[in-house]
Order: sequence, then structure tokens, then C-alpha cells
Amino acid sequence: MEEIDENSEVICYGPDYLELANELVNVTSDRILHNFMMWKLLDSVAYYLSDPFRDQYTKFHNLLDGKSGKRERWKECQDECNIVFDMAVGAMFVREAFSEDDKAEVEVMIQDIKDAYIDELPNIDWMDDESRSKAEAKAKLMGYEIGYPDYILNTTELDARWEGFEVNRTQFFVNRMSFHRHRNEGTMKWIFKEPNPDEWYLPPQIVNAYYDPTTNNMTFLAGILQSPMYNPRYTMAFNYGAIGMVMGHELTHGFDTIGGMYNHEGALIPGGWYTEETTEGFLNETECVVDLYNSYCMPPWTDLGCIDGELTKSENIADLGGIKQAFYAYNNYYLARNLDVGLIPGFRSNDEVLFLAFSQGWCNKYTTEYLEQMLVSDPHSPAMYRVIGPLSNFEEFGSLYGCTTNDEMNREDKCSVW
Ligand SMILES: [Zn+2]
Repeated sequence: MEEIDENSEVICYGPDYLELANELVNVTSDRILHNFMMWKLLDSVAYYLSDPFRDQYTKFHNLLDGKSGKRERWKECQDECNIVFDMAVGAMFVREAFSEDDKAEVEVMIQDIKDAYIDELPNIDWMDDESRSKAEAKAKLMGYEIGYPDYILNTTELDARWEGFEVNRTQFFVNRMSFHRHRNEGTMKWIFKEPNPDEWYLPPQIVNAYYDPTTNNMTFLAGILQSPMYNPRYTMAFNYGAIGMVMGHELTHGFDTIGGMYNHEGALIPGGWYTEETTEGFLNETECVVDLYNSYCMPPWTDLGCIDGELTKSENIADLGGIKQAFYAYNNYYLARNLDVGLIPGFRSNDEVLFLAFSQGWCNKYTTEYLEQMLVSDPHSPAMYRVIGPLSNFEEFGSLYGCTTNDEMNREDKCSVW
């Protein structure tokens, strides 16, 4: 393993944070620092200890999250397996729940989303031609992974991942500690290596998707390619509205505040790859998004205040772009290939199905306590505004539903980054 010393080059994403944290450490008493460190350690291991520890742990976290009661033992065991044997559980899941046909259809959808994004580029008035052609090249070269990494269906390769990892039947805590050691050793092996575009950061059974700026690659896990986000038997307007929007969202991350720093090959470009003029235009548009989401507040009885527009700006930009790309991908590409698509009874058009599927995907229920934590720490906006924000800023939505100008769902001064 290579040594890290003061001459090792590292990328620091938040130099301001480190400086401020340093200051904070200097002005905080030793007693508080000591307690904080002990607390962080205890909080991370108490769950794996005997009942008295676990009971206190549950009590504390229930209070924090606004929950009550204990989780059933079988659920805890399942969660634990899911974390420790992530890809192995994933292999069992995909054999059961994901097919090659699904993969082929999803691939076509991603291509449509990319094309929809590229088609819109000439209409982006804050971009100059140079930045626009770089954006086009980056979108074209953006890779994607669908479902699961192939190696997990190869038992030998899969077993190799847990080589040296000891499990015993009676000691939960010891197992957890050896898992941490095993995983950390694995992570350390990556230091100083080129990013591997074939490495998956999450196992396929997780309901999620992500964009990795260092490889210019999107990943859609098999877990999110399930109902109600995607189902090969659903009408495609539904699939474009639900998973198609997620695809647009991930693609847009390639061009947000972070994506703008990494080029088409995933190389970090100091100052970003937009021209100075375009950067200024981008920041102007971003300002609109920040102000808009700052104005989105929680119900008054919760006393929780409003969204932090600055904290959530990248995700909001991705949401605003994602629904547009999904809409245009469906209308301009999917429908162009499939002239005779039916209509679900009760709907006036498939666009209604698309918007409904999008909204349904974010149907959520939060406890007040959870929402409180989310507002200060989650870069995503609470789910209701992940629907209201993008739809009320999208021309096509307002006209489809005949909203009057400056209706709540049809803002007069629309924020539009992409
Ligand atoms: Zn995102």
C-alpha cells in the first residue's frame, strides 16, 4: 500500500469547511471534543452490542427520527446482510427481478434522454457556443451502467470480494468489526489508482441512481428499475415520467455546480470547463433556483421554516432539468418511433400520465423530526417540492392543465437552468 504523507496530493472538495472546522477545534474545550469523539464512536457501535446498549441506542434514535418501537429482528438481520454482503444479496435479487429485456429497453430510454438534452442546448441562452459544444460532447460521451455489474453473477469473482473476511455464528459485534476492517482495507487499495469506470458504488438492490463526475458515468441500479419507477408492462408515458425523469436528473448532474468542474473524461478542470461568460450566466440562473427554493416552506404547524436553497441547489437544478428531458424524450423520440400508442381510460393525453407518474414517484411521508434533520443536512429538497418546483417551472405542464399565468403551479418568472 502506498504511504500518505504531507507531500501527497489530495483533492479537497471543501477547503472552507476544513478551515472553519479547524477554527472550531481551536476554540472548543478539550472536554467537549473528547465527549464528541467518544459519542461518535459509541453511536457507531452501540447498535452491535448487547441489549442495554441497543435499548439506549433505539431510544435515542427514535427520538431523533420521531419513531417509536423496535424494529423486528428479521428486518434488522436482513438489513445487516444487505450491508455486509451487498453484492452477494444483489446477485440473488437480480436473478429474480431483472432481465436482459429490461436492460435493452432502459438503454433506449437513456439514449432518448441524452438526445432530448442535446436538442435543447441551442435554446439555452446563457451559454456561448464554445461551452455549448463542450456540453454536447460531454453528454454524448456520458456512459451509463444499467441494473448490476456483470461480475456478480460469477460466483468465483463474487467470492473473491470477501476473501479473508471471517464470520462467526455467535458474535454479532465481532463480525461487524471485521467487516469494517475488511471494507476499509479494500478502500485503501484504491488510493492513488485511476478511477475504475467499472466499479459500482452501490449494490443493485438499492433503490437509487447516481452520476459519477470522475468517470462521466451514470448508474441506474436494478432496485430503482422496478415499480413504481419502471415496469416493462406499464405504458411508456409512465416509465418516461418516473424513471425517465430520474435519468434526466442524473444526466443534469453532469452539468451542475460540480459537473461543470469535470470534463467529458472525468478530469477535474480548475475553474471548470465553461467559459467565463457562461459561468456567469450559469450562476445567474442558479441564483433564481436558490431564491425559489428558499421560498418553499414547510407547513406552519411544524415550525420548521423553509428549504435551504443554497444547500439544495444542485439537486434542484437536476430536478428542474430532469422532468423536461423526460417530457421531450417521450414526445420527440419515443412517440416518433411508436406512432400508435394507446391511452389509459380516464386520461386526456399520455402527457398527463407522464406527469402523474413523475409525481407519484415522489409520494412520501415524513415525521416532523425527520424533516427537521433533512432540512439542514440533505442536499435534496423534501419530496413535495421535488414535484411542485419542477412542474410549476415547466411551460408544458402549465399549458397542458390550462393553468392561468402566475398560478401556483405555473410561475410567471420561471427558473430555467437547463
Ligand atoms: Zn441528484
